[in-house]
Amino acid sequence: MSKFLSEKLRALTPYTPGEQPQDMKYIKLNTNESPFAPERNVVKAAARAAKRLNLYSDPECKKLVSRLAETYGVKNENIIVTNGSDEVLNFAFMAFCDSENGAAAPDISYGFYPVFAAVNGVPFTKIPLKDDFTIDIKDYLGLNKTIFIANPNAPTGFALTLDQIEQILESNKETVVVIDEAYVDFGASSAVKLIEKYDNLLVTMTFSKSRSLAGGRLGFGIASKEIIRDLNTIRYSTNPYNVNSMTLAAGLATLKNEKKVRKNCETIIKNREYTANALRNLGFYLTDSKANFIFAKSDKIGGEELYLKLKARGVLVRHFKLPRIKDFVRITIGTKKQMDILIKTVEEIL
Ligand code: PMP
Repeated sequence: MSKFLSEKLRALTPYTPGEQPQDMKYIKLNTNESPFAPERNVVKAAARAAKRLNLYSDPECKKLVSRLAETYGVKNENIIVTNGSDEVLNFAFMAFCDSENGAAAPDISYGFYPVFAAVNGVPFTKIPLKDDFTIDIKDYLGLNKTIFIANPNAPTGFALTLDQIEQILESNKETVVVIDEAYVDFGASSAVKLIEKYDNLLVTMTFSKSRSLAGGRLGFGIASKEIIRDLNTIRYSTNPYNVNSMTLAAGLATLKNEKKVRKNCETIIKNREYTANALRNLGFYLTDSKANFIFAKSDKIGGEELYLKLKARGVLVRHFKLPRIKDFVRITIGTKKQMDILIKTVEEIL
């Protein structure tokens, strides 16, 4: 740390992203990316956009916003486009959390929430999940804090129903409720249809998972026009060209492939159930994941040991050292072939 770092940031512990090793080729099941490469039209669109990189990107992201609005059945004014959904989440911490009541999220959830809170000076309350890692929605009723819930949750994969989300929205009308739908396309119900009814709802989504564009860094938020206006005020006050032109073009082209995206999701869901069954047959306990990953533990081997042994054999999964989940590994669902190698390698290790 330099002597120049601001007093208020000295205690900041940054988010630790999953490993992106460049040394050898792993079967990479650690950061919930899609195993399917972007379609040809997407790559071509990005390449065409590259020819105009001497110019700034469109700060209004007009074409992409319109296409997203059409895709999700909302108006252009209900959409903000960001550099990954991490950015819209950060904007939400900046915009909607006051320093008195602050923000709240489950104790086991996306590890970036407490970091966004810390970097923005927002008090952060962790609400423990139940022993089985499900959310007790009673804990969120009338909370009077800005609420962040990943649905499905990560790394547990459990999803709330829309009815449960509505109860939370209904009882927190004076604060914003952010539903982070990074993994919604793999089996949960989207809360987007509630934005007309609840002006305190912000839904965030990403192109990183179901739409095969993690490296493009593209996310978006859907909410009332007032919430979107506030988020845009922050966007224009930090980086109006937050999404580069190649990514804007790639995102737009991706939205022309919705059928293929859905088909890929169906394949992932099928591979998820296949892998879950195989691991259960090997004695693993798994949560009921509705995401593109599974969360599994064995009483024959600890989470860290399994992670290290898989890594030594070229299969990368994610292990978290948090005490409540240290026995688990989170495994991204890939192709059937990748899953067969994972299962075989686990068998050998056991
Ligand atoms: N929310 C959750 C729950 C996530 O797991 C992730 C991915 N790590 C994100 C948001 C952010 O994804 P991205 O910035 O790639 O859109």
